[in-house]
Formats: sequence, structure tokens, C-alpha cells
Amino acid sequence: MTGPRLVLATHNAHKVAELRAILTGPRAAVGDDLVAEQIVGADDVHAPDPVEDGITFAENALIKARALVARTGLPAVADDSGLSVDVLGGAPGIFSARWAGRHGDDLANLELLLAQLADVAEEHRGAAFVCAAALVTPDGHEHVETGRLVGTLLRTPRGAGGFGYDPILQPAGQDRSCAELTPDEKNAISHRGQAFRALAPHIRAALAS
Ligand code: IMP
Repeated sequence: MTGPRLVLATHNAHKVAELRAILTGPRAAVGDDLVAEQIVGADDVHAPDPVEDGITFAENALIKARALVARTGLPAVADDSGLSVDVLGGAPGIFSARWAGRHGDDLANLELLLAQLADVAEEHRGAAFVCAAALVTPDGHEHVETGRLVGTLLRTPRGAGGFGYDPILQPAGQDRSCAELTPDEKNAISHRGQAFRALAPHIRAALAS
């Protein structure tokens, strides 16, 4: 094994593991020559976070990936994601992580959203998790793929798994919330899984060139 070949713009070890599995696991589109340990997270390269001042998921993913390329000289992958609620015109959107005011307060975010939607009838409770995944290479090549997990917002949280808004999004065709799915079940249909699986062939091409 050589050194790191790909950097992921996340400090979340769980996300690094999830993305390693997508990129090098059994269903991976990336070649066998890429091993999981060659995919490292932002913490491994001590990269500071850039200001995410984009106004779309794609822009913010690109901002994060570009900053990592500048820091490391390696190809970088970043994602940006959130919940897009139909009746709120796509909000919380890029503000999903701090909808209730404090970044990363998942419970407060979820409770505020449920309160805002208290009077919204079942047929208007459509929403989707959205993820933009961006690849940026040191030669300036950029590619973005987007994934969506469409569903309905429940009235009360269900399930103990997952994070964020998982307990209140029931994917279309499911009778369980995202927090009641196993990690494998969620990865198979998730916005992030879709976006990263679509990006995988582009990552393979970038690493081969
Ligand atoms: P980030 O892309 O990790 O910054 O995620 C932004 C926010 O979107 C998170 O803090 C969650 O509130 C929400 N979010 C994104 N993906 C998911 C998911 O798969 N389940 C639940 N919430 C999510």
C-alpha cells in the first residue's frame, strides 16, 4: 500500500467508514487497487474547514473539496447534504444542520421542524434528503453528482438508528422511518449512497490518470 490517494472532506469517522465501504466494498465501482486505508478524512491531513458560503449543496461540496485539494495536492471528495421539505419550498436545505439556531443540535432541529409542520396534512408532507458529492482533482477537474431520498415526514420521531432527521423521514415505499432501517438498508437507498455511487467511476478515472 502506498500513502493516501484520496481525501474526504469530513471530520466524521462514521462518514469516512461509510464512504470507504461505498468506494471499496463489494458493490464498488472503484478498482480493487484502491484500498480503504488510502482513503483518509480531513482530520488525517489536519485540514481546517473552509467557510461554506455557497447557496446550494453543490457549491458547498465544491468549496470543501477545493480547499482540501489546495491543502494536500491530492484528489478530494466532499459532500453536502440536508433535508428539503416540499411545503417549505426546499428548506431547511443548506441550513439543515442549524435550523433551530445551533449547529448540529439534531434534536432541536427536528422538533422545530415538526412544530412548524404541525398543521400540514399527510398529502403535503413530502420531503427528501438531498446530497451533492463533489470530486476535485489537483489539475482542476471538477465533477458533481446529486442523490435524493424521497419520502414523507412523520408526525412523531420513530427509531433509534441514524442521525439528524432520520427518525421523521419515511422513505417512499417503506413502512419504517430512516432511523428504523439498518445502516446497510439506508446506504442502499440513501441520497449519499446514490451520489457517491454515481461519483465512484469518476473517482476511479481520476485515480487512474
Ligand atoms: P452535512 O452534509 O453532514 O453537513 O449534513 C447537514 C445536515 O443535514 C445534518 O446535520 C442533518 O441534519 C441533515 N442530514 C443530512 N443527511 C442526513 C441523513 O442521512 N439523515 C438525517 N439527516 C441528514
